[in-house]
Amino acid sequence: MAADFVIAPMPVVSVPVAGQKARFPVHRIYCVGRNYEEHAKEMGFTGREPPFFFMKPNDAVVVVDADQTGTMPYPTLTKNLHHEIELVVAIGTGGKNISAADADKHIYGYAVGLDMTRRDLQGDMKKQGRPWDIGKSFDQSAPIGPIVPKAEAGDIVNAEISIQVGGTDRQRSNVSKLIWNIGETIEHLSAAWELQPGDLIFTGTPEGVAAVVSGDTMVGEIAGLPKLTVKVA
Ligand code: MN
Repeated sequence: MAADFVIAPMPVVSVPVAGQKARFPVHRIYCVGRNYEEHAKEMGFTGREPPFFFMKPNDAVVVVDADQTGTMPYPTLTKNLHHEIELVVAIGTGGKNISAADADKHIYGYAVGLDMTRRDLQGDMKKQGRPWDIGKSFDQSAPIGPIVPKAEAGDIVNAEISIQVGGTDRQRSNVSKLIWNIGETIEHLSAAWELQPGDLIFTGTPEGVAAVVSGDTMVGEIAGLPKLTVKVA
């Protein structure tokens, strides 16, 4: 017998899979901080520090189909909304204490994502030693394009990653410049949490993070994956 609930349960959050009708159900969203050296420098840090993580709620995703322009509202409370273009890893098989060498077996596929950030609020929280949630984990803070199964995604570890705003380059780098590569990231993450099928990992952003305003259109690209186009309403 189906369970009864006192309020309507939340629907399953899901992301389209390129070339398929079946969708990818989203469990948790993990994000890696400062995982490209030039971005770490622009944020006032240097060197290879151990990876660190924060989360976004799974219903923060803004799902954008291929060849469509998604919309995210300009969020409340901020005057400095930043784009962070990121490679997203979709976990197909869970596990804990996964070694970097075994990590590939746990990956379902990849997508282009945006770790949208209320930078002013994040900065205030950093100064006060408080959690980043209000800066990072707000509603609709995680636009994402379709997930491409890993076998169809090409040479993702050497893929160019970029974002343009209004047709002008803002960030342009290469996934090969990750400080902690995908396998190492999964090793560290799965030592701290048991990964589950459906988890997404935003792997970090390269240098060039900057503000967008209402009316801007962001076009994120990672070679081998569908573009992610999002307009700030
Ligand atoms: Mn980020």
